[in-house]
Amino acid sequence: MVPALRQKSGGQCRDDKRSPDMATVLVVEDNAANMKLVKFLLESAGHTVVSAADAETGLTLARDLQPNLILMDIQLPRMDGLEATAQLKADHATRAIPVIALTALAMKGDEDRIRAAGCDGYIAKPLAYREFLATIAAHLVKVPAVT
Ligand code: MN
Repeated sequence: MVPALRQKSGGQCRDDKRSPDMATVLVVEDNAANMKLVKFLLESAGHTVVSAADAETGLTLARDLQPNLILMDIQLPRMDGLEATAQLKADHATRAIPVIALTALAMKGDEDRIRAAGCDGYIAKPLAYREFLATIAAHLVKVPAVT
């Protein structure tokens, strides 16, 4: 893991408590066991996790908190993750936030549906830890490698 780069800003009203490789990640997932695992992995990597157990709560938190990244389960009660992503991408307040689908669906047609809804990527469940963290990192602002 690349050490956090601390940046001191001179009197700017910016949130500089966070280095670029430590992000706030909104996780929308209705399965408690999956949520616990995802939260553990993200927090182990230094990220802050905000959780929502349904799409409606996720949409509200996305608008209010402007997370750096959203992990979106597809199968959710009531509104599913595809509809929620479509709404996020239709809203100028949230459309720039990358959305990665978390899905047990891994068929070709499903990937097309996930992309069509506006997801920027997807991670298949069950999670492969290294791949999971690599995908997260790839969608966050990159920190120059220390050589
Ligand atoms: Mn689910």
